[in-house]
Amino acid sequence: MNPLTLFARRFVAGEKPQDAVRAGERLHAKGIKVTFDKLGEDVKDEGAAKRTTEAARELLGLIPRGIERNISIKMSSMGQDISRDLCVENVSSILEVARQVGGFVRLDMEGSKLTQDTIGIFQELRKRHDNVGLVLQAYLHRTPDDVKEAVRRRDRVRLCKGAYREPPAVALQDMAEIRRSFKACAHLLLESGSYAAIATHDEELIRDTIDHASAQKIPSSRFEFQMLYGLRPRRWEQLVAAGYNMRVYVPFGTHWMPYFYRRLRERKENVLFVLKNLFR
Ligand SMILES: Cc1cc2nc3c(=O)[nH]c(=O)nc-3n(C[C@H](O)[C@H](O)[C@H](O)COP(=O)(O)OP(=O)(O)OC[C@H]3O[C@@H](n4cnc5c(N)ncnc54)[C@H](O)[C@@H]3O)c2cc1C
Repeated sequence: MNPLTLFARRFVAGEKPQDAVRAGERLHAKGIKVTFDKLGEDVKDEGAAKRTTEAARELLGLIPRGIERNISIKMSSMGQDISRDLCVENVSSILEVARQVGGFVRLDMEGSKLTQDTIGIFQELRKRHDNVGLVLQAYLHRTPDDVKEAVRRRDRVRLCKGAYREPPAVALQDMAEIRRSFKACAHLLLESGSYAAIATHDEELIRDTIDHASAQKIPSSRFEFQMLYGLRPRRWEQLVAAGYNMRVYVPFGTHWMPYFYRRLRERKENVLFVLKNLFR
């Protein structure tokens, strides 16, 4: 294993699906739900997109009975950049396996160049499948409208801030404004009656979700918190103990660099963690 892999291990469960499944079993034993993600993005040829699709189908079969068969996938690794039809075909075949094993597939959201297309593909798939969910990013100017549309369609949404560098014309840049947008979108999702996923490590947003749900008498069974593997593990357990659904996003695989880099850029404590290990 190269030394960087050692540092990435805080955020990535391992290289093999079995590593991720073992991490999932440990979390499951603590009452924490998981979604598995085989890392990889920006696939440029059809063969690679097919291999990624096959890996996602296999992964659904590998997750042991008892643990929810919940995976997250990226459209750019399913052939989105090559052809829309290819991407729809690949994702449909994953959803078909998910249906057979009682699983659920979340379409992660990537950079803003792919947003419209990803929502379009999601809506097309949604006509035939009810085991698929979308991600919306609170920092995009368009997201309040996308949330209203998703509420109207009764889609299952994961709300997050957004992890990609975007220009001011496309996305809010100021954290206070992003938080305001996140709260407004989260309130709409919580009130919608559809099962909402609130994906953040930000205590202000977690508290706001809890307070809003309590004020509006929205039962904790109607939504879940989501956090990333390696980030705030004590908080996962506290939320479970307080009666909330908690899901951890468990990434694995050899193509961890772009994911790892986004985590480092997001938060200086993550960089400090890497540096501390470098000099230990
Ligand atoms: C399950 C999940 C799925 C995601 N899926 C996507 C996706 O599909 N597309 C996408 O663009 N992005 C995705 N993201 C990433 C997301 O958009 C943000 O980039 C990322 O979550 C960082 O924002 P944040 O709200 O968690 O907190 P940040 O903005 O990083 O931090 C804000 C505050 O949160 C608290 N905090 C954060 N981390 C810690 C910590 N480790 N310990 C203690 N306090 C902490 C601190 O108070 C901090 O000041 C996902 C995130 C999660 C959790």
